[in-house]
Amino acid sequence: MTAGRPRLHKIRIQPRVTHRILMKSQYIDLYSDTQTRPTPGMRAAMAQAVVGDEQSDDDPTTLQLCERVAELLGQEAGVFMPSGTMCNLAAILTHTRPGDEMICDHQSHIYCTEAAGASALAGVSVWPLQSPHGIFEVQQVVDAVRPRTRTAPRSALLTVEQTTNFSGGAIWPLPQLRAVRDAARSHGLKCHMDGARLLNATAATGVSAADYASGWDSAWVDLSKGLGCPVGAVLCGSADFIHEAWQWKYRLGGAMRQSGVLAAAGLYALEHHTEQLKIDNVNAQSIWNTLSASDLFRFDPVQPSSNILRFTFNSELITAETFAKRCLAEGVRIRALGGNFIRATTHLDVSAQEAETAAQTMLSIAQEMAKRD
Ligand SMILES: *Cc1c(COP(=O)(O)O)cnc(C)c1O
Repeated sequence: MTAGRPRLHKIRIQPRVTHRILMKSQYIDLYSDTQTRPTPGMRAAMAQAVVGDEQSDDDPTTLQLCERVAELLGQEAGVFMPSGTMCNLAAILTHTRPGDEMICDHQSHIYCTEAAGASALAGVSVWPLQSPHGIFEVQQVVDAVRPRTRTAPRSALLTVEQTTNFSGGAIWPLPQLRAVRDAARSHGLKCHMDGARLLNATAATGVSAADYASGWDSAWVDLSKGLGCPVGAVLCGSADFIHEAWQWKYRLGGAMRQSGVLAAAGLYALEHHTEQLKIDNVNAQSIWNTLSASDLFRFDPVQPSSNILRFTFNSELITAETFAKRCLAEGVRIRALGGNFIRATTHLDVSAQEAETAAQTMLSIAQEMAKRD
């Protein structure tokens, strides 16, 4: 055995086991909007789905979902994917060739938590931009584009997140989104929008998903976040782009058969759960109202604009890890991020009352921890 190699059981299993021991109903789960469970109505829709063979374009429910999302995003066509991660990867693979470079934010999901798929599978290097909340400036994009020389990698792709995830749920203002897109395009780059929570942005601002996604070479939405589906995401773009992305989906092992059972959940969610995203945003505000009244919490961004809250502490006595553990013991599950940050996410399995209870719990735990010694 290699000296110093960490023993597996010491790495992660402890905190995971802790939350599994508690029954789901025993805590308020603000860990992520992926923790939503399919509702009875969604399960009924899934059970009744008309199905066929997705791989031969023969599953009517999946085709209907793809058409619906493409229309929502103002794009020509769509492809159903098992995950958002595969949407990002298939888009990178389609837009680039090995040796190219992709520009994105340094805290973006595509860069930080997709197991370096861009480099591992697409052979693409990444140029991460530093920005406070995942929302960078046009000049940063322009400066990041490589000169066209024999020796430089080819700058081929710009990606943005709408809303930004680990940077705190910030929303790209439409003019700035268009400006970075136009700057990238004028240098010959393709533009990809990771719209995992694009509909959360729409719920917050009233700007349509089609307006946000307009002029982007590809864009997708996740069904398994705030929309509450068990599985799935839909990647959209031009018909040519989708043809190629489909081939990548197939190569990556993402082609399915009777996927209508899953697509039915997506159609149900688009029909019944998009209004909920507005409530999620309101619940995030109400948690913020309670916590920001105390000077123990420092929010970054200073106020949430969607369903994600990100904060750290003004007391050195509080670490994010310990705070998250204490909260879990008191029935509130949140996520400790790097840099002593906490992320709390509202979603359809957290009611307004539960959001308020969670805020009160977090407040009293922070007050107690800050008093120690
Ligand atoms: C969740 C998420 C993804 C990945 O989606 P999965 O469906 O979990 O694979 C990508 N980007 C962002 C911004 C996300 O929040």
